[in-house]
Amino acid sequence: MTKDGKRLACVTLGCKVNEFDTEAMRETFEREGWQSVPFDEKADVYLVNTCTVTSTGDSKSLKMIRRAARTNPQADIIVCGCLAQKDASRVCLPGVRLVIGAARRGEVYELYQRSLVGPGVMIAVNGLKGAAFEKLTVTGHENRTRAVLKIQEGCDRFCTYCVIPYVRGPVRSMPLEDISSEAQRLSDAGYAEIVLTGIHLASYGRESGHTLAQAISASCRPQSVVRVRLGSLEPVTVTDEFLNTAKGLGKLCPQFHLALQSGSAEILKAMRRRYTPGEYEDAVARLRDAFPGCAITTDILTGFPGETEEQALETERFIERIGFARIHVFPYSQREGTPAAGMPGQIREEVKHERAKRLIAIGNRMEAAYVSGLVGTEQQVIFEEREKDGMCGGYTASYVHVLAESMPGEIHTVRITGSEGKTAFGKVTG
Ligand code: SF4
Repeated sequence: MTKDGKRLACVTLGCKVNEFDTEAMRETFEREGWQSVPFDEKADVYLVNTCTVTSTGDSKSLKMIRRAARTNPQADIIVCGCLAQKDASRVCLPGVRLVIGAARRGEVYELYQRSLVGPGVMIAVNGLKGAAFEKLTVTGHENRTRAVLKIQEGCDRFCTYCVIPYVRGPVRSMPLEDISSEAQRLSDAGYAEIVLTGIHLASYGRESGHTLAQAISASCRPQSVVRVRLGSLEPVTVTDEFLNTAKGLGKLCPQFHLALQSGSAEILKAMRRRYTPGEYEDAVARLRDAFPGCAITTDILTGFPGETEEQALETERFIERIGFARIHVFPYSQREGTPAAGMPGQIREEVKHERAKRLIAIGNRMEAAYVSGLVGTEQQVIFEEREKDGMCGGYTASYVHVLAESMPGEIHTVRITGSEGKTAFGKVTG
């Protein structure tokens, strides 16, 4: 700790929920007068919010801790997040002063002050059994038009390949009244779009008897909220109540990220995903009925233990049949402590990556087709930042990137006049 310095540098590994947690922790220091500096600059305290969803998440997290210590060997390092929750001793590298896991993030400043009292590393990682929802507040979002609101934490699905339930704990949800007041606060602060996120959004309210549909209604209630976007969902989300509520709201973005993972019934069963390809297809059909032209996006895992070439091709045929607007592809990563890690038929890395490459090519073609399908239509676009040739870039409600003449922060109706790959071009008409 340098004498005069109150400089904090943060880095986040992993998902949008981790990004939200980091911003909340950053703001607890800023409220105490600390100044945020970029992670590659010299700081007095570095905060590394770790991820352990894949082995790459582990190695990148440890690399960032070492990088902080190299940038300023006198600095204190705070390590938090999923790898810290899973194995606190593994992150106790030179320079580390405090380790907290996937809880107590709101106390990070107080815990850091306490860690300065004694020598060595202070480990404040608790078990998550019975943990309550930790309300964290973020006021300054990176993006001036879109604000992320974390309304759910934890997961109890225990898909066989996934380590998240072991490191994020049981399902816990933000109370409905807090969702409305947070949405009001964010839209009063000028955010036109609110993104509802969580570790397993589909489980929102499971422990309190509330539903995701109620949470969405609560977030749409403030007049000033322009639109609400949802994080990752599952076929189990697509109930009558969800569809009837969502349709009636008018502010819900018609973009649904419905994680599929595989198009093979046997592989879905081995993953302990609680739907069949047929049920998934039904959910998509119901969403398209309720929201014609909506964007269905998804996640696919390649190379799950035992996946045959025929099952990989089955997945390719299935996604062709669905016609996604965007696909995120992840090669399976063996995670210690998960049932799949001990399964026979582990697939060679080059085969996983070969299958991923094929899916990515299909995904790029499908995304370009979805974007070109918007040509000739009028879309509401929230403009975010200046881009090339004096054009301004923004996103439609179905999350398509659009370039047109406008200014950051403006919301316009745009007639889509053309597209190139994943980007559409247009003319402001209103
Ligand atoms: S639903 Fe499955 S994949 Fe998603 S976080 Fe929970 S256990 Fe992991």
